[in-house]
Amino acid sequence: MTKSVLVTGGSRGIGRAICLKMASLGYYILVNYKGNEAAAQETLAQVRALGADGELLQFDVQHKEQVKAVLGGWIEQQKEKVIEILVNNAGIKDDTLMLWMKDEQWENVVDTSLGGFFYVTREVLNGMLLRKSGRIVNVVSLSGLKGMAGQTNYSAAKAGVIGATKALAQEIGKRGVTVNAVAPGFIQTDMTEGLNEKELKTMIPVQRFGQPEEVAHAVAFLASPESGYITGVVLSVNGGLYT
Ligand code: NAP
Repeated sequence: MTKSVLVTGGSRGIGRAICLKMASLGYYILVNYKGNEAAAQETLAQVRALGADGELLQFDVQHKEQVKAVLGGWIEQQKEKVIEILVNNAGIKDDTLMLWMKDEQWENVVDTSLGGFFYVTREVLNGMLLRKSGRIVNVVSLSGLKGMAGQTNYSAAKAGVIGATKALAQEIGKRGVTVNAVAPGFIQTDMTEGLNEKELKTMIPVQRFGQPEEVAHAVAFLASPESGYITGVVLSVNGGLYT
């Protein structure tokens, strides 16, 4: 059986760095993305340049029918490949003060992070439980731990995933499957592009934004076979900004 890793939102930023880290460890990489095919192809090319292999799986994590059709369909067809590691990384932000927040801003952000976690994990879980082996790592956020003004939608979505991480860890620990979360602070990606790094980094004890590879390192640690006694935790990767 070829051990595979599914990374949602693997086309760019933190997700791409996770794909490359897991490729360097020899896994077969399933690169999920929503719409940016060129970026997803670039991730796959970089995976192959590392001597590993993988494929693209396009679906929108917030649409349960798409998740079922594409991911469920892929799982059903496989004879050789199993998803040993699931990284729920896909996420968006759409910041505004709650007073001005529109329904779609609330729904899109919550449905992508929290809905996406539910629909994708549900699809993958059965196989892990039957094999009595698996790792689930959810990429959450500092905002989900401490709350961030202008991000009630995003903070609620990520806090929701943290609660679900802890609950699911308790449900399935006895079946050899662990569920953990990684909570990045400010990481240099498209998502943080418009932010004033010069000003913000003065608040961060290590005095800089983090790199996607530093988050990928934490994900790989929690996803490793040796981390079987760690479940239900939230590991912060934030330069000491908040504990
Ligand atoms: P990014 O550079 O904006 O990339 C977002 C990724 O998610 C892309 O691959 C995108 O696919 C995918 N995506 C978005 N909506 C999706 C959907 N509905 N279905 C499937 N894929 C979807 O973001 P990032 O900074 O790498 O963030 C990755 C994760 O880390 C997110 O969950 C984010 O909330 C979290 N995080 C980031 C930071 C930070 O400072 N950057 C801090 C804390 C937490 P396409 O390329 O197809 O659009």
